[in-house]
Amino acid sequence: MSRLTDVDIDVVVAGGGPAGSTTARRLAQLGHSVTLVERRTFPRPHIGESLSPGVWVHFATLGITERIASAGFRLSSTTLLRWRGETERIVSDKPSLIVDRALFDALMLDAARDAGVEIVFGISIPRARFFVDATGRANFSRRKRRFTAPRVIAWHTRWQGEDFPDETVVERCGDSWMWGTKLPDGTFSTLAFGNPSLKFNFLASPIAPPHAFDATPYVCDSPIDATSAAVGEAAFAIDPISSSGVQAAIGSGITAAIAIHTILERPSNAEAAIRFYTSHVQRVSSQHMKWTTDAYSGEPDSNELPNIANDAIVATNRDAQVIAPTIRGDFVELEPAIRTASGRDVAYLGGTPLAPLIASLPARTPAHAIVDQWSNTIPRPHATAVLSWLVAEGVMHVV
Ligand SMILES: Cc1cc2nc3c(=O)[nH]c(=O)nc-3n(C[C@H](O)[C@H](O)[C@H](O)COP(=O)(O)OP(=O)(O)OC[C@H]3O[C@@H](n4cnc5c(N)ncnc54)[C@H](O)[C@@H]3O)c2cc1C
Repeated sequence: MSRLTDVDIDVVVAGGGPAGSTTARRLAQLGHSVTLVERRTFPRPHIGESLSPGVWVHFATLGITERIASAGFRLSSTTLLRWRGETERIVSDKPSLIVDRALFDALMLDAARDAGVEIVFGISIPRARFFVDATGRANFSRRKRRFTAPRVIAWHTRWQGEDFPDETVVERCGDSWMWGTKLPDGTFSTLAFGNPSLKFNFLASPIAPPHAFDATPYVCDSPIDATSAAVGEAAFAIDPISSSGVQAAIGSGITAAIAIHTILERPSNAEAAIRFYTSHVQRVSSQHMKWTTDAYSGEPDSNELPNIANDAIVATNRDAQVIAPTIRGDFVELEPAIRTASGRDVAYLGGTPLAPLIASLPARTPAHAIVDQWSNTIPRPHATAVLSWLVAEGVMHVV
């Protein structure tokens, strides 16, 4: 698809973890010639076996839902949380996926190969029009990183035995905490943060002594330029308490692939593509920082949307209207969007273009009139939800 210059490969990806396999598969699906180089022989073990429920949306985008669902992994909906002296059983409506990372990462790599990606095991990186660093914490391209939290060391151990609980267990002990879950092969995997000798009382026989991992969160402020990008943990790492690292790595690969496709195929939009992927990385990193701070301090999740009274007068912040990079089809394009109080540019909410909704309003309007007007083009419950969201995000406010 792409015009060839003096090199034959469009994109070379270094690293065959979830981020590398995702970026490679999406770029191959978009018509590019892609080579992925992985330095270790697969399957290889990896930390991070509990995948947050949001991964299923990414599997659907990648077209791999069936192969993951039939791989024999374990689903876990219940977490037993012992935090601040209280025990709580949390049942989530969407289960986490508990995987063997050696098998999971090999499946992801197979999915890249099936899309036409050439997979090479070794360390020699061929030349290509675009280079993707997906080497995780190894940081092959030595991009500058900024720590977003104090240093965290995690001690990982696997245990053998019988009658392990089906629920995931999280427990705090003073300044330290630990996490554990049963793996698909029946062994129990634990992580201790702070104190390596912490263990749950039902555990007896470790398979191997604890192994230390650096789990310090960080972000790279410039994760992409005109010829290279960093994806997954090569671009940012989040605190393991959310069990969302793999979801975030795959999400960054999907977003980076659209940005790289734009840079290669529509160079006139390259600047917008660079801005788009950079703000994606910054947003995911800062959202996780906030969530982690709330989780450690025991603050409730403050994501609930406000109720706006029908007769409340709502004013619109006109400065919130901006032109911002957004995804249109398989490319990044500049489009009208709104800027939230936290500086995030959003063009669509649930598929609805936001800028035209705001542009059509007088400076001050009763809430019911706004919902009436928007209900001409979008369903009424969605119009109400959009209004609440815009108020929560500081784009509109009740006077
Ligand atoms: C203690 C701890 C617990 C965690 N728990 C969870 C969890 O429960 N759930 C979760 O979702 N996430 C968890 N994570 C995070 C998760 O493991 C990562 O987010 C995820 O693996 C990142 O994927 P990636 O593809 O970016 O990098 P990786 O999975 O690390 O893949 C990088 C790949 O690059 C290869 N590579 C490195 N250097 C080179 C080179 N020079 N050339 C070629 N290849 C190279 C490596 O061999 C590796 O295969 C945890 C992390 C830590 C530290």
